[in-house]
Amino acid sequence: MPRFLFGAHTGVAGGLHNGLIEGAEIGCDTIQIFTSSPRQWAAKPLTDDAIALWKAKAAEVGIAPLIAHDSYLINLASPDPETRQKSLSAFIGELERGEALGLDYLVSHPGAHVGSGEEAGIAQIAASLDEVHQATAGFKIKVALETTAAKGTTLGGVFEHFPALLSHVAAPERLVVCLDTCHIYDAGYDLVGDPTGVWDNFAATVGFERLKIIHANDSKFGLASKRDQHAHIGEGTIGDAGFARFLSDPRLPENLALIVETPVDDDKGHRENIAKLRQLLS
Ligand SMILES: [Zn+2]
Ligand SMILES: [Zn+2]
Repeated sequence: MPRFLFGAHTGVAGGLHNGLIEGAEIGCDTIQIFTSSPRQWAAKPLTDDAIALWKAKAAEVGIAPLIAHDSYLINLASPDPETRQKSLSAFIGELERGEALGLDYLVSHPGAHVGSGEEAGIAQIAASLDEVHQATAGFKIKVALETTAAKGTTLGGVFEHFPALLSHVAAPERLVVCLDTCHIYDAGYDLVGDPTGVWDNFAATVGFERLKIIHANDSKFGLASKRDQHAHIGEGTIGDAGFARFLSDPRLPENLALIVETPVDDDKGHRENIAKLRQLLS
């Protein structure tokens, strides 16, 4: 059984450092946060105080890796020049905030081609990433491209999109991959019926050496639904046995960050979902 680092997407109301405090309280090895509101273009710049508070708390709790997820509005594949420009500056802002905070990864959905076609969309994302990389030369933070549920014209719902993207980008060493269990199941990868086959496919396309983060989410609607509705671990269509089998593949790299982005209800939150995963994977 591979060794994992368990964590959650934690809340930052009242200050980013609160994401670290919540993570420590619920027993996270690693956390993911939003560094700005994910549904707004405008991002408040980080104050020196906010950065100092974050860094002091991060050193105190020893949580790693530290991960951010980018804004949902960003579309690096957009064929519309205005949206693309807005996306580029917002994305550069995400990386600047992440670098200032000393984060390891920025998880990002690759983008949606909105009618221009897969090939044009992938070329556009690669061109966007090249611009982003030039604007953030020397940064340590890496972009983690996330697998998606293949909703609409969203790219990243098939593994082949990742090698296509990586081969077009000038600095592929600055990119890693985040696999979301709910997304790939919803996109049509049968990780319940054929876990080994899904990993074989992943190995042949993306490659295990790129894999740094898994978003461990159960899926409400299930195989090939293309819905992207997360459920508590064990309570969706993947189920306890599905997670236990899929995440016990011996090829998985050591110290992979396993982040839950599961619902937070009155009776069940991240603490319970992390405990469930630890139990299933021990
Ligand atoms: Zn995710
Ligand atoms: Zn999702």
